[in-house]
Amino acid sequence: MKVLVAVKRVVDYNVKVRVKADNSGVDLANVKMSMNPFCEIAVEEAVRLKEKGVVSEIVAVSVGPTAAQEQLRTALALGADRAILVESADELNSLAVAKLFKAIVDKEQPQLVILGKQAIDSDNNQTGQMLAALTGYAQGTFASKVEVSGDKVKVEREIDGGAQTVELSLPAIITTDLRLNEPRYASLPNIMKAKKKPLETLTPDALGVSTASTVKTLKVEAPAARSAGIKVKSVAELVEKLKNEAKVI
Ligand code: AMP
Repeated sequence: MKVLVAVKRVVDYNVKVRVKADNSGVDLANVKMSMNPFCEIAVEEAVRLKEKGVVSEIVAVSVGPTAAQEQLRTALALGADRAILVESADELNSLAVAKLFKAIVDKEQPQLVILGKQAIDSDNNQTGQMLAALTGYAQGTFASKVEVSGDKVKVEREIDGGAQTVELSLPAIITTDLRLNEPRYASLPNIMKAKKKPLETLTPDALGVSTASTVKTLKVEAPAARSAGIKVKSVAELVEKLKNEAKVI
């Protein structure tokens, strides 16, 4: 069985992002970029399914600039067999990315597509759901456990205050939540081997997909600065301040 995994290049989660002076977006100049953490979990899950003998081929797919090849090479070092970069210098919205993934799904005919539940740069939490709608495939979002058996996959989903288990008929779309697994690190020999694995580059035009956006970002702002805290001398003073200053009790 073939599985596609989505790999997005995003600002590294350790970076404190700066908003551009004109409020048009986040400043990406000289900023460390990495694989989106939820995509790392998606790659790990695909690799574990391959190790169990359930999956025979893992194809890592990214939509982004030429530099996204770095994140695809990381996916190859972690265990993906080959990679596809749909190259676009533009910042694409989730629907455009989902349409490009649909075109790749049509071409590759995978049984499973694993995406992150969200990209930590835009926090959209939309692409997997949109891809499920475009393909008509079953979806198991926010997965914390995945079990494939025959032509079905059981997905335990993280929901408010508990878990829900659904059974999907393959082909299906899964989006990963934090508790699904703990991704491994790539070993040096595997990083070297990954350099020789196939990486195909396509364009939205070649896939016949229009990426024109119907959404325009008007403004991006940093959160308001928090005022400094104070130390109180006693519980009585704390209670007095909560009552009379903060007015929360
Ligand atoms: P989002 O809907 O933007 O929060 O993204 C949800 C998931 O879709 C991410 O965790 C990725 O797995 C996948 N995804 C979104 N954008 C891209 C992209 N440009 N390239 C590859 N995967 C993507």
